[in-house]
Amino acid sequence: MKRLSDYRAIVGDETISTLYRTARKLYGKKILQINSTYVGGGVAEILNSLTPLLVDAGVESDWRILNGNPDFFNITKKFHNALQGDKINLTDIKKSLYLEANQDFSVYAHINQSYDGVVVHDPQPLPLIQFYKKRQPWFWRCHVDLSHPNLEVWDFLKTYIVRYDRVILSDESYRKNDLPADYCIFAPVIDPLSNKNKELSDRDISKYLKKFNVREDKPIITQISRFDKFKDPLGVIKVFEKVRQEIDCRLVLCGSMAADDPEGVQIYEKVKNRAESFIKKGDIVLITSENNILVNALQRRSAVILQKSLKEGFGLTVTEGLWKAKAVVAANVGGIPLQIIDEQTGFLVDPTDIDQTARTVVRVLQDPEMAGKVGRQGREHVRKNFLVTRLVSDYLRLFNETL
Ligand code: UDP
Repeated sequence: MKRLSDYRAIVGDETISTLYRTARKLYGKKILQINSTYVGGGVAEILNSLTPLLVDAGVESDWRILNGNPDFFNITKKFHNALQGDKINLTDIKKSLYLEANQDFSVYAHINQSYDGVVVHDPQPLPLIQFYKKRQPWFWRCHVDLSHPNLEVWDFLKTYIVRYDRVILSDESYRKNDLPADYCIFAPVIDPLSNKNKELSDRDISKYLKKFNVREDKPIITQISRFDKFKDPLGVIKVFEKVRQEIDCRLVLCGSMAADDPEGVQIYEKVKNRAESFIKKGDIVLITSENNILVNALQRRSAVILQKSLKEGFGLTVTEGLWKAKAVVAANVGGIPLQIIDEQTGFLVDPTDIDQTARTVVRVLQDPEMAGKVGRQGREHVRKNFLVTRLVSDYLRLFNETL
């Protein structure tokens, strides 16, 4: 089981000792986290690390999953996108399927009888609160950017948000002006001891790269991202074409793809067509498998990590790249500038400027010493601000204030 003390070597004894002490007043308290999946996606990943660490600190911490069927998840995906500004046809049927799944779950979940606090993640289980007699503080942990929501969905979901004691957002800028509840900010984090981020031996790195046909005879540029228009994989190819005019190097685009995501398949095909001649020579490698150790190995072996997003929530791939002390060249959008201080912890570029991005990549490839220095500063920035121990501290503080 994961223990806070496992992180001593990374964040220092004092941080760990403070966490154990902060939990002291919470002994005997039981809290519950609820989301809608055990695997896949950042929320599940973080709960996998957070839950045992809270238990280790002394807070009895449970984790439950809301049961939903495909109809329910289709609707909540639409709500999710609408909260970030997309259009939606908000029918009564959608509303009632959404509420029904929550009500059904509430009947057999018995979640409020023995808990001192309940943390609900994202829109899927948001209405659960309505189906219980409230006996403890409830917190809504919203991982979505709420700054420009579709107003119809926002108004509908506010019915439930107003019942919560605190809303937890990822960044101040994600707040809507009429958020009808107290709120606080918890930054997204990574777990330095997870398979995606733990140290790997050179041998293991090479083994994984070989398995996925990534040769190591040239500097590697990598973008790890879903094949999504906002991650701009075609823009990455254009950047690579320019970089290649100056320096011989290789590009890896690694993006796991859900079979039921038609947009992802289309974008992948476009990228494949555009990159065909490079792919034949093995100089552009496209990978669609989902494999945490492969992501880790790629990030560790790359000379440059690229994140050429046109829009970005927080950009955990940037955090992961910085943690590996890599030169990260990333677009100045969304949560990326929270992580990258230009020329200090990484390199910020204009999201639509292919020339500038290519020039920056070339500069990094030509000056490994400078890249190494910036990379090490990036790692330190992540160590101080974006590791899971920080999130444990945020939750303990919240529980101390409210339970
Ligand atoms: N990821 C992965 N395999 C892939 C593509 C992405 O494991 O092929 C992971 C990536 O390492 C990161 C997360 O998925 O942890 C993506 O988070 P991010 O915030 O960068 O973007 P999102 O996909 O949430 O927009």
